[in-house]
Amino acid sequence: MSAGIVYLVGAGPGDPGLMTARSLELIVAADVIVHDRLIPRDALAPARGDAEVLYVGKEPGSASVPQDEIAQLLIERAREGRIVVRLKGGDPFVFGRGGEEAEALAEAGIPFEVVPGVTAGVAAPAYAGVPVTHRDDASAVAFVTGHEDPDKGEDSLDYEALARFPGTLVFYMGVKALPTITERLIAAGRDSGEPTAVVERGTLPDQRTVASTLGEVAGAVSEAGIRPPAVTVVGPAAARRERIAWVENRPLHGKRVVVTRARAQASELAGRLAVLGAEPIELPAIRIEPRIDSKEVRRAIESLHSYALVCLTSPNGVRLLFEAMEAQGRDARALANATVAAIGPGTAAALRERGVIADVVPARFVAEALVEDLSKLELNGKPVLVARAAEAREVLPEALRELGAEVDVVALYETLAEQPDPDAIERAAESDYVTFTSSSTVRNFTEALPEDIAAGARIVSIGPVTSEAAREAGLAVDVEADRHDIDGLVEALLADAANS
Ligand code: SAH
Repeated sequence: MSAGIVYLVGAGPGDPGLMTARSLELIVAADVIVHDRLIPRDALAPARGDAEVLYVGKEPGSASVPQDEIAQLLIERAREGRIVVRLKGGDPFVFGRGGEEAEALAEAGIPFEVVPGVTAGVAAPAYAGVPVTHRDDASAVAFVTGHEDPDKGEDSLDYEALARFPGTLVFYMGVKALPTITERLIAAGRDSGEPTAVVERGTLPDQRTVASTLGEVAGAVSEAGIRPPAVTVVGPAAARRERIAWVENRPLHGKRVVVTRARAQASELAGRLAVLGAEPIELPAIRIEPRIDSKEVRRAIESLHSYALVCLTSPNGVRLLFEAMEAQGRDARALANATVAAIGPGTAAALRERGVIADVVPARFVAEALVEDLSKLELNGKPVLVARAAEAREVLPEALRELGAEVDVVALYETLAEQPDPDAIERAAESDYVTFTSSSTVRNFTEALPEDIAAGARIVSIGPVTSEAAREAGLAVDVEADRHDIDGLVEALLADAANS
């Protein structure tokens, strides 16, 4: 049996983007993951399905697993020859008891590695606009625990020394004791007017900051209802926040926005929303099931060169048409003879990525507008291909037939209802916005989820067709995009958030 190993890994302060490359690599490789409470959401998502995941953190109101039991657990699992990742919030050696665990491992002769993480005492202030050192204001920084080990006695913090400390003081675990901490610092000589900031849930989407002075911060924090986890930053650098604060100034800060697109496409919208400060909640209502192996699709691809017009109605359609072409040894040249029409700029962009500039892109991105543009083409008696979703509306093929075209409709994919994820449903319940990018997302969302899921949230629709579907499903549309693409939807949401 090969020897096991323990990795003492820091998972950062909460923003999953602040997990190190090494930590992610090790989570993927782990046979066993032993973790605390304060690790980023989804930090364990890359773990193997057969990995053993053990939670040893404290549940609110009950005791945590004793430290020596945790060390024992790590040692046992490593002795079984397994790769053990001990995952902790922030940095494992900053108030993480990683030092004790490392010592126990060393003593037991178990190989281990330490993987530092981004510590909350640096990251939470940074996300609040406070540099913990500054050339003019702070040439040193001290990390201080606000929650003393009871065994060490009441007064083991040297407040005289802390009061004299020539730089920034960062207190961890000090929400409850804040009145005591600030009183003692002032009694020991620290200026009661010194800028002080408390950052709650730093780097997380609902981060909050209370900025005050050392003398008044405890009152301000209790008034604001600040709860752990939070760090308290004492020192002139805390005032820099007035100029540097950025997270909390982003236009969608603190807004929870539900993204109902299929998972494969959700990330673009989710990413755009996150950059603007929102917390995107991916709750895909649909999933795309390719149907490019069907006889009708194969036949259409074989005779692509003979169509006068090829109509594509979605980026998914474009992607799957090209996949179907490739499967039959074709490429973009198969479209050389045809006029190519795209509904919407997203569809046109997907074509452009594959080397095809659409000839017709309607000014308004709904099927009716495309028909208007197509009526300018001479289609009487000409073969036309409409490649799209199985359950699409009939507006386009019918209108083309009225123009005298011989229309073949092929289904490249089906949109199926996605199984909703319970965790995402729970988070969505308190959302500020729910976004819909197609009628099928509306229909499946309202069918699959509890009726009141979006109660209280504002409904954002990408365009009139989607809005209509929403109204049919009993949802009042609060925001409709003027431009019916992702950019337009984000713009409309931003404008709404600015007004509310
Ligand atoms: N090893 C961790 C600290 C563990 S002690 C690290 O290096 O960050 C737990 C304390 O860390 C909390 O009580 C709080 O003071 C601080 N903390 C952890 N995550 C935080 C966050 N997202 N925002 C503010 N403080 C946080």
